[in-house]
Amino acid sequence: MEDIQVWGKEDSGMFSVSAAYECLTKHSADPQSEVYNILWKTKAFPNVLMTAWRALRGRMPTRQCLSRRGVSMNSMLCPMCQLEEESSQHIFLLCKYAQRVWSECFKWVGTSTVQHNDLKMHFLNFYLFQATNKQNLIWKGVWVNVIRCIWDQRNLIVFQQGVVDADEIFQKAQLKSWLWLKHRTHSFNYSFSDWVLNQSSVLEVLSNKQAVVFIPWMMQRQKYGLMHSNLGFVGEV
Ligand SMILES: [Zn+2]
Repeated sequence: MEDIQVWGKEDSGMFSVSAAYECLTKHSADPQSEVYNILWKTKAFPNVLMTAWRALRGRMPTRQCLSRRGVSMNSMLCPMCQLEEESSQHIFLLCKYAQRVWSECFKWVGTSTVQHNDLKMHFLNFYLFQATNKQNLIWKGVWVNVIRCIWDQRNLIVFQQGVVDADEIFQKAQLKSWLWLKHRTHSFNYSFSDWVLNQSSVLEVLSNKQAVVFIPWMMQRQKYGLMHSNLGFVGEV
């Protein structure tokens, strides 16, 4: 009997480019690998991206995480709501204060969406249909800034007797995303009050109405001279 070559991806056994393409793209569309590819392209300061990366990897030192590593804890409860055990999923997504911050984000751009309980899926689905991929990377920048600001607020409560304030978390995330755009884009001429108060300004940046040109990293360093390390900016808020 003669051996024949069979393409296992098609019932007919015949090779086709479309099946090969589907096979390759199916692999790259795996949300687990896709999430980090998108994260590193997201428009936010590097230290903020690092916090989001740690959160997505489940590496934030939450009380649940520390307890699992054998650190003895006085309380396992979420420092913000004091109602549930503090896990990454809780503090960033499920906590009533976190939920309030995410609602403010959607209200800001006049949209609503189903919110996932999984951090990676939440990040992937933080997406505006009217925007290009490039502009969605700015919108995802808001996502990573929210993560960072929730964590900063949590630390203020734990270490400096701060009080929980969902509005403040949201406003700080707006400020961080505005600062990034101000420092890194040519055509971004909005004042901070326009950015936070004027929904049409935000939508212009996040829709196809206005082209946003990113300043290459090295040019930005020369122009503003703000970088002083690989991970932080002088004057960052
Ligand atoms: Zn909570």
